[in-house]
Amino acid sequence: MSDAQLYVGRFAPSPTGPLHVGSIYTALASFLDARSHQGQWLLRIDDLDTTRNIKNSADNILTTLETFGLTWDQAVYYQSQHLSDYQEFLDQLNHRQLLYPCSCSRKTLSALPADIYPGLCLNQQVLPDTPHAIRIQTDQRIIAFEDELQGLIKHSLSERHGDFILKRKDLVIAYQFAVVVDDYLQGVNHVVRGCDLLDVTPRQIYLQQVFKFITPSYMHVPVIVDAEGHKLSKQTLAHAVDTHSPSQLIFKLLGLLKQHPPIECQNAPVSELLDWAQQHWNPAALKGTVQLAVAG
Ligand code: GLU
Repeated sequence: MSDAQLYVGRFAPSPTGPLHVGSIYTALASFLDARSHQGQWLLRIDDLDTTRNIKNSADNILTTLETFGLTWDQAVYYQSQHLSDYQEFLDQLNHRQLLYPCSCSRKTLSALPADIYPGLCLNQQVLPDTPHAIRIQTDQRIIAFEDELQGLIKHSLSERHGDFILKRKDLVIAYQFAVVVDDYLQGVNHVVRGCDLLDVTPRQIYLQQVFKFITPSYMHVPVIVDAEGHKLSKQTLAHAVDTHSPSQLIFKLLGLLKQHPPIECQNAPVSELLDWAQQHWNPAALKGTVQLAVAG
């Protein structure tokens, strides 16, 4: 990034339930990284998967972020309002003959060794009215990138995934594809998110390469896990974050981000805590950590 280029970061929660401690932790890291670079911090609601969306949770997420002082720039970007953009980029790939329909059943797919798709439908005729997903052809290339916290990541698409899905059989645009289009359309050049997404990043970089989009810099922060080592997630019914004492939670999360604000900040208003944290933001303290256990 040249000095003159504005840092643009983002937080992209899925509206599948209220934010939990793990999601606020990631939001805080991404917010602080953007603000400490005088950057913009955008908010995107990943609401394409209508089978998982929960009513009112997008509004609830917005209110919760505001309560914690995590205010964003620009209008909120809802993926569901960009369906024609995804189709346009899909059409481009189709025109380049990089896509093919795949009618493989769930059973066939689950029997594949190591989840690698060996191109079963690549040269098959799939009749248009047969339910099918859309896959992109991949090649032998190795995708390598330097994650700001996790170091050099190198990954062979053919040895890890094979051709992957851009549009699902139920017609939902796949996350891997949408996120690349969204980051491009929003001008995002810094992605700070949880380590659980480290493994999907090479597929996203592959798509950026195919489209000749600039690859953003990536920083994958540790994920918060419970006492059993499971990532806190809405699927594991992690508790909604308690919004009654935002300062206390931000103080605690700064500790988990290894930022250690002075103890006298503990009861400071959220805005003061965030100011302190922006000025002292040192993500290098998290280098190499992929998960953190949190009690309670
Ligand atoms: N919506 C995704 C999630 O909640 C995050 C996507 C991203 O940051 O790229 O896991």
